[in-house]
Amino acid sequence: MHPTLEPIHQRVLDRNPGETEFHQAVHEVLESIGPAVDKHPEYAEARIVERICEPERQIIFRVPWEDDDGDIHINRGFRVEFNSALGPFKGGLRFHPTVLLGTVKFLGFEQIFKNALTGLPIGGGKGGSDFDPRGRSDREIMRFCQSFMTELYRHLGEYTDVPAGDMGVGGRELGYLFGQYKRITNRYESGVLTGKALAFGGAQVRREATGYGSAFFARRALEVRGDSLEGKDVVVSGSGNVALYTVEKVHQLGGRVVAVSDSDGVVHDPQGVDLELLKDIKEVRRERLRVYTDKIGRAEFSTDRSIWDVPCQVALPSATQNELDADGARALLRSGCRFVGEGANMPTTPDGVEVLREGGVIFAPGKAANAGGVAASALEMQQNASRDSWSFEYSENRLSEIMTDIHDRCHATAEEYGRPGDYVAGANIAGYARVADAMLALGLV
Ligand code: NDP
Repeated sequence: MHPTLEPIHQRVLDRNPGETEFHQAVHEVLESIGPAVDKHPEYAEARIVERICEPERQIIFRVPWEDDDGDIHINRGFRVEFNSALGPFKGGLRFHPTVLLGTVKFLGFEQIFKNALTGLPIGGGKGGSDFDPRGRSDREIMRFCQSFMTELYRHLGEYTDVPAGDMGVGGRELGYLFGQYKRITNRYESGVLTGKALAFGGAQVRREATGYGSAFFARRALEVRGDSLEGKDVVVSGSGNVALYTVEKVHQLGGRVVAVSDSDGVVHDPQGVDLELLKDIKEVRRERLRVYTDKIGRAEFSTDRSIWDVPCQVALPSATQNELDADGARALLRSGCRFVGEGANMPTTPDGVEVLREGGVIFAPGKAANAGGVAASALEMQQNASRDSWSFEYSENRLSEIMTDIHDRCHATAEEYGRPGDYVAGANIAGYARVADAMLALGLV
């Protein structure tokens, strides 16, 4: 790490004890922006790094709700409004039992740089709750969402803070959240949430955007090296929103996804996973992945096999943070994997990244490779503001162009700063410089 950044890093560790994921995210960024520190002494003078590491505002609140049996539950809600130099705070809500303040801060911190990379006018934030949606009825989900929004609404606004979905928060939850926002505020303010259903202000391609974007990034990274996804075996971890639409686009681009997973285990289908069946299980019936093999006899479901042991040339971790460690990375190297693109946020551990880098694997960090979701959200805000709605084809083309631009910006920045081929450095420096320039222009606020 650059010597001027070391004390700043230490202060972040000391002031945020126990927030290991936040520490990891800050370390990864600070470790790679050294070349920008040398080139821009004006950033250090204005204490830009110190300011970026401290959220503008952090909100923690109680979420009481009643289950179908009349029992009362108390969860904790969070919204971390990290940085609004480039636009309103923007970033999803995660409902998962593992969510802590440090989880939301890691996600919010990543979001600042990711949003900057899109080139669109959006700041960084993130939120969520330790609520576990698994096994909950529709009515319970609705009551939880209503209670959550009853507190959160006062902090939101289309020019203030605009949440979207993340793990455990999809179209259904966003519908309930928007319904409650509208009821409390008496305002049909479409632009206050993104990822909405098409029936009430949603935009084409938002649902598909993170997965499609991840596949577009992979396509471009291979293309600039004279290669493509055509005929490649691909492994996609997870089977949620990001994973499903990654599978869809990879298949359309000529690749073959041979394994997907959930937190119970891994499906290996060597002839290529059946996407329609997968969507039916996950989006319609909301069942566990293991039932896939009831219909597809050739496939195997395993609870003790790592998905990274399935041979592939391309791996797209799209489930959760720290799911691909050094052992997983070594398994990918053994099977001849050439490209790893993070569909999820920070799915690769630092030692996993090191193994991939030393093994010569092209590695695309989440803040670049999965930025398609938030980019499509910004396009949804644009359509809401102008009371317009664009076609699927037009929206997909915009997304594809944005992902190509993000790729090329990271690639060119890495070269400019003497780290050719290093997308981590390219993404962090390009995102950081854009936010830093805006913060300088705005003065000490
Ligand atoms: P979903 O909740 O739709 O899906 C998450 C998937 O990951 C589920 O299949 C879940 O399985 C699986 N999973 C969770 N934990 C584990 C685990 N420990 N091992 C294996 N599988 C696991 O979330 P999303 O698809 O929306 O998000 C996935 C990732 O992508 C997250 O890191 C998120 O932050 C990131 N992301 C999402 C964006 C979006 O637009 N949705 C945008 C950018 C990034 P199970 O059902 O068993 O829990």
